[in-house]
Amino acid sequence: MSGAPAIFLDRDGVLNAVVWRDGKPASPRDLDELVIEAEARPALARLAARGYRLFAVTNQPDVPRGKMTRAALERIHDALAAALPLEEIAACLHDNADGCACRKPKPGLILGLAARHDLDLSRSWMVGDQDRDVESAHAAGCRAVLLERPYNAAPAADRRAATLAEAVESILAQDHDN
Ligand SMILES: [Mg+2]
Ligand SMILES: [Zn+2]
Repeated sequence: MSGAPAIFLDRDGVLNAVVWRDGKPASPRDLDELVIEAEARPALARLAARGYRLFAVTNQPDVPRGKMTRAALERIHDALAAALPLEEIAACLHDNADGCACRKPKPGLILGLAARHDLDLSRSWMVGDQDRDVESAHAAGCRAVLLERPYNAAPAADRRAATLAEAVESILAQDHDN
């Protein structure tokens, strides 16, 4: 298969901290709630240096649910794009009832990026903090590293890591073995 290997990074809980709402991990709803993880920039730089193309893939149902504006989402994504070496931030702005093809655990966000950027999914990885991230990766033909959190289980994850930095080292070690 042609194309470049890529790393698909979930956004909330991976690139930026989750915001706890009603005891559940949730998304920042504007810039004042955005906390980019300190390890994200060096971790992504390591991946880029090894030839991985870098993308974010995120479900943002608070937009269709009317809990945040599209403009606020764009402010957050502009800030992430300015801070991190991401080629594209692909977001699903649908809710369950929409039946779209992109809301994780469906693979549509990853498949769309692969088509637009000529990526080799068999050599690509997803890093996520939710079971649906792992399911989405597998449905797209990628492997997945799960960041272990109190709110996830994902028994099907290919790898587990405590932090994004650890996930990156795990991917690069695997790469070296090939
Ligand atoms: Mg997440
Ligand atoms: Zn969608």
